[in-house]
Amino acid sequence: MLYDITRTLTPRSAVFPGDTPVSITPTLQRRAGDSCNVTAITMSAHAGTHVDAPRHYSDDGAGIDAVPLDVLIGPARVVTLEAADAITIADLQNVIGDLLHAIRAAPRLLIRTRASHIPDDVWDDTFAHVDPQAADWLGANGLRLIGTDAPSVDPAASRALPAHRAFLRHGIIIIENLRLQGVPDGEYELLALPLKIAGGDAGPARVVLRRCAP
Ligand SMILES: [Zn+2]
Repeated sequence: MLYDITRTLTPRSAVFPGDTPVSITPTLQRRAGDSCNVTAITMSAHAGTHVDAPRHYSDDGAGIDAVPLDVLIGPARVVTLEAADAITIADLQNVIGDLLHAIRAAPRLLIRTRASHIPDDVWDDTFAHVDPQAADWLGANGLRLIGTDAPSVDPAASRALPAHRAFLRHGIIIIENLRLQGVPDGEYELLALPLKIAGGDAGPARVVLRRCAP
């Protein structure tokens, strides 16, 4: 069974205040007499569901074209934490139990927060973020990828981006703005394929979960 956990891009897709809005403009149209339909797209690399590259928060960091595919494909765990504001290791242990064992089995963690109830076209800056100490703990214990259905792993107003930086220190790749509504908690195979933009600070991605056989 496949779950599409990608937010749909439209001109109404919510973006960080001040970031480039999504525009999807026809440049050729059959109904206008052209031979085919062609569309031009303008958008921030961080609109909708996307993978952050290390370049996003470090000028020397890898661009999205250099992020290894083996991080983006493989066993992943979906976990629901709708009450938390700052997600801690204790929060994760409360729902997962043996977190070390869980990371060994699936070193990719996708967190469903209350942001999964936010429609694609609504900006709501009260989303949950990841506690930077939790990011360090996860990195020290083998996590390779973190995903959230919120627009960021740091608070909307954060300029220091401590959780982003902690994940970067440990080489953990971040996926933001997932759509995890209706996906049961549990273990899956993750397939996250960002656009291969040379030196890109992020890549819009189609992200899919495949349910493991019971
Ligand atoms: Zn981003």
